[in-house]
Amino acid sequence: MRPASRGSHAAPRRLRAPSVARAAGRHAGAPGGDTTAGVSALLRAVPNPSRRVVVTSVVFWATAGGLFSGHQVATHQQAVAAQAHRHAVVVEQAAIASDDARTLDLLADATRRQQSAQILAAHRVSMFDTAGRAQKVVLAASTLTTGTVDELADPQLPAALPPDLAGLDEALARVRVALAAQDDVTARAVVGGMEQQVLAAAQAHASTAADRVAGDLAVVPGDRNATAVGDLVARVQQAAATTDVIGAAQAAVSADGAATAVAQAASVERARVASSAAAARNGVDRGAWGGNVNGRIPASALRSPAFDSKVLLREDAARALDRLNAAFRAKFGRNIAVGDSYRSLAAQFSTKEQRPTLAAAPGTSNHGWGLAVDLTGGIDDAASAQHTWMDAHAAEFGWVNPDWAKSERFEPWHWEFVG
Ligand SMILES: [Zn+2]
Repeated sequence: MRPASRGSHAAPRRLRAPSVARAAGRHAGAPGGDTTAGVSALLRAVPNPSRRVVVTSVVFWATAGGLFSGHQVATHQQAVAAQAHRHAVVVEQAAIASDDARTLDLLADATRRQQSAQILAAHRVSMFDTAGRAQKVVLAASTLTTGTVDELADPQLPAALPPDLAGLDEALARVRVALAAQDDVTARAVVGGMEQQVLAAAQAHASTAADRVAGDLAVVPGDRNATAVGDLVARVQQAAATTDVIGAAQAAVSADGAATAVAQAASVERARVASSAAAARNGVDRGAWGGNVNGRIPASALRSPAFDSKVLLREDAARALDRLNAAFRAKFGRNIAVGDSYRSLAAQFSTKEQRPTLAAAPGTSNHGWGLAVDLTGGIDDAASAQHTWMDAHAAEFGWVNPDWAKSERFEPWHWEFVG
């Protein structure tokens, strides 16, 4: 061959650094403009048909990079490129052996195109990955905020982000700007921060759920949701360790739901225990008298003690309270202060509303039988001299601060007439 011929043909066009936007396939028709010319040149330059096929595949790969977009396509292109490269080496070796300078030059040009396209494809794979991570953050944030898990919904950031997700919208905007500018490095860094924020929020949700059930576990230890909460909290931690934002968000929301179910079960159980305890303490039958209905005793059937006309009680309880008051007055120089006595059913309902944990189930209170008083003026303080005196002497007059009011519910003010 003629060594001089190497310089005799037009110098291979330098491969212009391909526009990433064009190669990303966003602009139909744009890609391949200059490579098409390159293909023709190569085909003209390579006389051997079998070599033509190989060179064509090298150039086609470089061109195809601009025709498609998508993670799978890009990955496939990398595989095709690798194969084309192997073939190109064979062509190159043949060209070297036959001193075919023009083919060598064109092959070098095609190789540069191929390398650029490979870099481009790798960059595109990376950008798809970044965009995918951002989408996952959006879905996780939406899951955490709405408390629902719907992977099929078009993921969108909630319009109003909760405090622990604040700023995700601005970060997402920065990711979009960076990706549009092909700046994967910036996009990746911002997405990394978003992921950490969502994972922290998911972990906070989970630990809140665990805290919520802590007090309920003793009430409903066998509840299946109680064990589920623990499992789900562990799952959130595992997902966080592998930056699985969606897994973490879904497990956190599920933990939340399980905790709510546990709280409801515990609340039902507490109400059941309280109501049966109240029934045992203030049972309708035990307190019932005169054919009356608890909380619906006619005023004519009730009496006031002589020292306080606002107080209403069963007649014997009112008389006993008068006698107790006389002794109290001798000791302290003043009357017993009564805050509340007979309580109608309506009043029992409103008391229950105001003091749900203290008041008895409506219709079961001894106040509804005119057999209980709530005392003030010091007696309501268990440490006071008045309360101590009452504890020592009231029973002599048939009045007691019941055992339950000293233990399971603390009501030093509540006294009942036991005759
Ligand atoms: Zn009371």
